Amino acid sequence: MQAYEKPVPVPDHVTGPFWEAAKQGRLLIQRCPNCGVHQFYPQSSCRSCLSAELEWVEAKGKGAIYSYTVIHRAPSRPFEPDVPYTVALVDLDEGCRMISNIVEVSPEAVRIGMPVEVVFEEITPEISLPKFRPRRQS
Ligand SMILES: [Zn+2]
Repeated sequence: MQAYEKPVPVPDHVTGPFWEAAKQGRLLIQRCPNCGVHQFYPQSSCRSCLSAELEWVEAKGKGAIYSYTVIHRAPSRPFEPDVPYTVALVDLDEGCRMISNIVEVSPEAVRIGMPVEVVFEEITPEISLPKFRPRRQS
């Protein structure tokens, strides 16, 4: 694997389980047993009721594009080979929203509401990034 030059996430005590699962190709989100809300990104308390009793659950990895933008000008040199690329807000079926890249489809073909599914890109031995591609089966 050639050196990865883009920013690499640094797991901490809150996000560690998320990144550990992502490395195994599993998308974890937090669920609040107190109020039932799912949330992403990982935090130390529930954004809805402030409970600190959060649990991890595995998301199905399916959702739909809420909105997106196409990046034509790279924010820094390591992103230059990628342009144009798509950054989207994805609403997971579990009810929380993630920001990520849409891959395996040209930016011109991306649409709001497009059904997508998670795929993982291994960028280092420790970190795999969840990204989304058009859903192949529902
Ligand atoms: Zn809650």
